[in-house]
Amino acid sequence: MVKQEDLQTIASSLQSFLEDLHSKYESLRDGTVANYIPELAKVNPDLFSICIATVNGDVYEVGDYNQLFTIQSISKVFVHGLALEDHGRDYLLTKVGVEPTGDAFNAIILDETSKRPYNPMVNAGAIATTSLIKGSGATERLNRMLDMFQRYTGHNVFVDISVFTSERITGHRNRAMAHLMLNFGMINQNLEEALDLYFQQCSVMVNCYDLALMAATLANKGINPMTGEQAVESRYVKDILSVMYTCGMYNFAGEWAYKVGIPAKSGISGGIIAVIPNVMGIGVFSPPLDSRGNSVRGVKVCEELSQQFGLHLFECSEKK
Ligand code: GLN
Repeated sequence: MVKQEDLQTIASSLQSFLEDLHSKYESLRDGTVANYIPELAKVNPDLFSICIATVNGDVYEVGDYNQLFTIQSISKVFVHGLALEDHGRDYLLTKVGVEPTGDAFNAIILDETSKRPYNPMVNAGAIATTSLIKGSGATERLNRMLDMFQRYTGHNVFVDISVFTSERITGHRNRAMAHLMLNFGMINQNLEEALDLYFQQCSVMVNCYDLALMAATLANKGINPMTGEQAVESRYVKDILSVMYTCGMYNFAGEWAYKVGIPAKSGISGGIIAVIPNVMGIGVFSPPLDSRGNSVRGVKVCEELSQQFGLHLFECSEKK
């Protein structure tokens, strides 16, 4: 397992390694961009960026790292953190489980016995988690969520209105899940409001640097390495990372844990974040997705970074 002491060694070759990785994979044309809403289908499939932020505040970046895109499912990680702060681990567990599903992210399934959605990283669990965010009305809940994203990114964040509107108009499947959970009393009556907040969180605009910094904040005990602000209470970071580790890459989560071995989360717009605890955060953005909804280039980049620098959490062989 790589430690903070190893950072200096890694850092010396990181920038050139990222540049090599970027040129190696920019010609890879596999995968298709998400097309469930026209706004996402319009994206340029060649956009590609990699960014790493360390817990010491150093940044390494290559490609289109300033390009904005909607955060999509990566938001689930951070909203899970906010729900933990709002309700604590025990209560949250009564509403949303922490079991990987082995099914697609948008599967309409609940745990047979408990009627809970399986985990906060799949859509059903994320909608249930979002429905628990505290606030005296829709505006306050949205503002609390945007403030939370601001603590992680260090700047104001905005919702892309056209993506939000499309998600809302076309989100029949998500709406169906919400109704199923309402039927079992797992979310409250105010289901449309919870769905709106979920669609808004998915439509928050970030760039690849933001992703790396958000991941680095989780790597740094919940403290943003650039601003020094506590983005999430430290005691919840291990809960967040455990769920990312086992459920963050949808039905590829097991193979990911086996091969790459670091907590990660992907989103349908092509982003991936990965967290090396106490060391650094990785952000990758490349829109074409594989059949499980993970960025093709993003997966390749993380696999190679993990191998090259021995990032797998359970790596115990001698360093070369
Ligand atoms: N907005 C998308 C949805 O709810 C997010 C899914 C994703 O990124 N995998 O379906």
